Amino acid sequence: MPVTPDQQAEIDALRSQPRPTLRAVSEGAERHLYTAHPVLDHGFVRLVDYMGDDAAICQAARVSYGRGTKSVQNDEGLIRYLMRHWHSTPFEMCEIKLHVKLPVFVARQWIRHRTANVNEYSARYSILDREFYIPDPSQLAAQSTINNQGRGQALTPDESARVLEILKGDAAQTYDHYAEMISEEGPDGAAKQGLARELARMNLPANIYTQWYWKVDLHNLFHFLRLRADAHAQYEIRVYADAICEIVKDWVPAAYGAFADYRLGGAVLSAKGLECLKRMLAGEAVTQETSGMSKGEWREFEGVLG
Ligand SMILES: Cc1cc2nc3c(=O)[nH]c(=O)nc-3n(C[C@H](O)[C@H](O)[C@H](O)COP(=O)(O)OP(=O)(O)OC[C@H]3O[C@@H](n4cnc5c(N)ncnc54)[C@H](O)[C@@H]3O)c2cc1C
Repeated sequence: MPVTPDQQAEIDALRSQPRPTLRAVSEGAERHLYTAHPVLDHGFVRLVDYMGDDAAICQAARVSYGRGTKSVQNDEGLIRYLMRHWHSTPFEMCEIKLHVKLPVFVARQWIRHRTANVNEYSARYSILDREFYIPDPSQLAAQSTINNQGRGQALTPDESARVLEILKGDAAQTYDHYAEMISEEGPDGAAKQGLARELARMNLPANIYTQWYWKVDLHNLFHFLRLRADAHAQYEIRVYADAICEIVKDWVPAAYGAFADYRLGGAVLSAKGLECLKRMLAGEAVTQETSGMSKGEWREFEGVLG
């Protein structure tokens, strides 16, 4: 369960107390504030706070005294110009704070993005919940034969069933051992010393859930989303990136639109790639052999051209 009824009641209480403010307000972000958007089997992404909106990007770009915005069209044009020309600092004026619940192996990929501020749930201080990521059978696939970092064909139903049995069994056993080690009561009911939580956690598998607060500016968030909402990212982190995209789309629609156009949906060509494209447009039948590109580069180039 992503959030318990008690946690939901806390979220509802926060959402029931609106306050007037002089700060920039994004109506789209307000709709998401505090709500937990479910991801995977027990995870979620929750917008806890944000600073700025589309207008704040223009305000910073124009180093303005007032709101610094002109017409919506004019502002959108400026934002697209900034995105197109990698003029990134105005995007750093907007920030977002998320509460994320995610499996530890996803957190290990996520934490590589160093340009954010993170505070993680302490498993030295608190007892971890018995919550493990067990993939949906549709996600159980064999090692890819063409991409060392990916999945290939789906497992057969029998193989899937066996994998799920192993995952569930290991999760149950390791958590039982964790609970036994920290318990201050022995099997006979007599008092015993419980092992410190900071040590007992070490046998727990990487599919157990952790939680953190994650704060990042919009420029670095776009960098994260460009890498993790991409088809090459592992499915389990991509679904978090996709959930964040939905929030960002509502928070800063013009900036997200420019990002989706120039970064998510756009492509970067090498000098060789650009040259080949020009030759193709001039009517030449360019092949990998005549392109000057390696097989891998050519495959990716063809992928870009669809
Ligand atoms: C598909 C995929 C596969 C990956 N596979 C692997 C893997 O096999 N092994 C592995 O270890 N990692 C892997 N990574 C992680 C990857 O190498 C990066 O660590 C991760 O994507 C974070 O990117 P970043 O450093 O650009 O982000 P951030 O840490 O957010 O940094 C953003 C930008 O800030 C600048 N910056 C930040 N810190 C520094 C610094 N100390 N010095 C200089 N510039 C800095 C850089 O310009 C950087 O691009 C993979 C990532 C992806 C998306």
